[in-house]
Amino acid sequence: MMVETDKIRVPMREQPSEERVRNFDSVPLGYSEKEAMAEARRCIQCQDPACETKCPVNMKIRAMIEKIAEGDFKEAFLIAKEDNPIPAISGRVCPQEDQCEGVCTMGKKGDAINIGKLGAFLGDWAMRNGVTEELHIDERDKKVAVIGSGPAGISCAVDLRKLGYHVTLFEALHVAGGVLQYGIPAFRLPKDIVDYELTYLQKIGVDVRLNNIVGQNVMFDELRREFDAIFIGTGAGAPRFLKIEGEELMGVYSANEFLIRVNLMKAYDFPRHDTPIVCGSRVGVIGAGNVAMDAARCAVRLGAKEVYILYRRTKRESPAREEELHHALEEGVIFMELVNPTKLLGSEDGWVKGIELVRMKLGEPDSSGRPRPVKIDGSEFIMELDTMVNALGTVPNRLFLDRTPELETTSWGGIKVDENLMTNIVGVFAGGDSTSGGATVIQALGEGKKAAASIHDYLSGR
Ligand code: FAD
Repeated sequence: MMVETDKIRVPMREQPSEERVRNFDSVPLGYSEKEAMAEARRCIQCQDPACETKCPVNMKIRAMIEKIAEGDFKEAFLIAKEDNPIPAISGRVCPQEDQCEGVCTMGKKGDAINIGKLGAFLGDWAMRNGVTEELHIDERDKKVAVIGSGPAGISCAVDLRKLGYHVTLFEALHVAGGVLQYGIPAFRLPKDIVDYELTYLQKIGVDVRLNNIVGQNVMFDELRREFDAIFIGTGAGAPRFLKIEGEELMGVYSANEFLIRVNLMKAYDFPRHDTPIVCGSRVGVIGAGNVAMDAARCAVRLGAKEVYILYRRTKRESPAREEELHHALEEGVIFMELVNPTKLLGSEDGWVKGIELVRMKLGEPDSSGRPRPVKIDGSEFIMELDTMVNALGTVPNRLFLDRTPELETTSWGGIKVDENLMTNIVGVFAGGDSTSGGATVIQALGEGKKAAASIHDYLSGR
């Protein structure tokens, strides 16, 4: 194979920021075949590829890149798909800088190989060319129920199906995909790509049942009677509240509600779609992770004139992916560092009209290793706002958990599992955000795979 050692990665073409703030179309425009090959040829094919070890699903990245460099996209796609059921999606949203790309040898002296965008290229290429895996499945007589169709449920269902189990996937919403559909906006993750990646579930014979809320219109006990094992991948879809005065005012949203209205219900296209959204001209978003960036960038696209990220630490500690933070700033989002909300102020007719913030400074590191934000007494000030979005994080939805009191949970409301991802109920497994409380797509995929392996062991009597 030809080896080139260019230090700079092949640039990704993007919609210019002044154009993209007026639409919800994808920001990155994707690699062409020629560009993907050129980027792949920068890879020096390490003997001991650290990128693979750092990948939560241990994708065979080196072999995948080698095939792209040779122009054998079909083989490269099949290699990617062996370990990752949704490469076009994870390639777009994984925090690669902390995983595969973070340990890439090329990154030591220049740019790391753009592994994420190469993965996305392959998924898109396969979609355009109608390429899928040819699977031979040896059927077994055991049945498994998977609850939730986010990344954890998808990977668990796919791996079990490939092993020959009859898999039924129950999803509460009218579409499959979890956060991939309702949370992450189309300008980061186009929905035709999500839809296409998910057709794979049906193609391999997973029985996908939408509009089925386990604990409401399907009971957990019924599933326990009907199925030989169960995987719970119900995510963490309930917002954490600020618990400050004024949170009940109109114009104050949880990021979940704001993003579901925009992404799932397409409020940006109201009245062609039925769901409206009220987004004012001065918007504050509390938090600085991916969810906060998504909410802020949606507000920009909904026409807000000033959009502020209000964060109690600094940009450096922001947990958002580098690319999202960079894109948000390019799009005019204003990052206000070292501030914390203390109360929200309302107008006489009940709408939010401002926020009281207190200034913070950075102290000693806390348990997360990041400097602890410390309040500066007497530094409170008022900022005028007409829309406020709370992106402080999420916890598992109580609906399912309250209806299954026999399932043990942690102090913060996550489902308790052992090292094999089995819950306290024998034969019932869980993974993804429902056990971790909000992590990443690839971590949820990894846990779905791990649970599938444990379920296979369990059903094989091991
Ligand atoms: P989810 O994706 O939450 O899926 C759970 C599914 O279970 C949902 O479809 C839900 O409807 C269904 N469900 C819940 N209860 C029931 C029930 N009782 N019966 C049936 N179905 C039920 N991660 C990244 O790696 N990169 C990013 O850029 C990124 N951006 C994000 C942006 C936003 C706005 C959000 C909210 C999260 C983001 N994340 C990102 C995190 C990532 O999306 C999650 O960690 C991941 O989706 C978790 O997968 P999951 O399968 O555990 O849960």
